[in-house]
Amino acid sequence: MSYYRFIDKGKGPTKLFVGGIHGHEGETTIDFLKSISYSDFSKGKTFIYNFDYTEYISTIKKEYYETKIGKTIINLIKKHNPDFYIELHCYNIKNYENLISPNRRESQGVPPLIDLENHVLISSVSPLIRKKYFKMETICKTLEIPCINKKLYWNDLSSITEGNINKNDIAKYNVNKDIAKNDISKYNVNEDDNVNNYNLNKSFNTYLKIIKILSKVKTRDEFQRIMIKKYPKQVELAVKYAKEIFGEKFPPF
Ligand SMILES: [Zn+2]
Repeated sequence: MSYYRFIDKGKGPTKLFVGGIHGHEGETTIDFLKSISYSDFSKGKTFIYNFDYTEYISTIKKEYYETKIGKTIINLIKKHNPDFYIELHCYNIKNYENLISPNRRESQGVPPLIDLENHVLISSVSPLIRKKYFKMETICKTLEIPCINKKLYWNDLSSITEGNINKNDIAKYNVNKDIAKNDISKYNVNEDDNVNNYNLNKSFNTYLKIIKILSKVKTRDEFQRIMIKKYPKQVELAVKYAKEIFGEKFPPF
């Protein structure tokens, strides 16, 4: 499942997308990274990596960057010195409230994640790397989507669509079957969650939309303009959190 892709469109920004940062997240993130087509990329150079299973250690812990995968990621950042650095993560839907809770600042020492829409969360990257390895102008983003237990998901989706799907194709996520709220728990690690209004297809669409915005924009300004237009309230929050954790003049992206 380990995956690498390099898109060279000449002069322009350098972008680094990384999925499979820890745990089983690579299983969820790989299809999104594969599904970005050549025309979705801006000018410049884009490097995409998606990693296989590794032990789960949070990126807000120092220990993470002492592991093999943590060091690999630091090395990639140093090697490519990107203008855009995007980490794709996924989370257990049962942690949704915790992740967006204002208490996260006290309990974890980091700001809450921001729900863009449809349970797709956005934040900066770990404070342990943000200032150390990137310039202030670098766009650093963490994007989170509820994780998929892929094996269960495939089995069930195949039965819904009578096996008539290409398992390597992201389009299968957009099948015209709204998966009922009550069925959703089985696609996630936790069986007993009952989050209201959670819709897997909508989450996928939003997640992919944001990834494509990031792959397409050429500058920080362009990204900021699009985000302010689409998500004014969320950007306002991001500005506030960036100031709190990184200082008064720090940009939200
Ligand atoms: Zn993660």
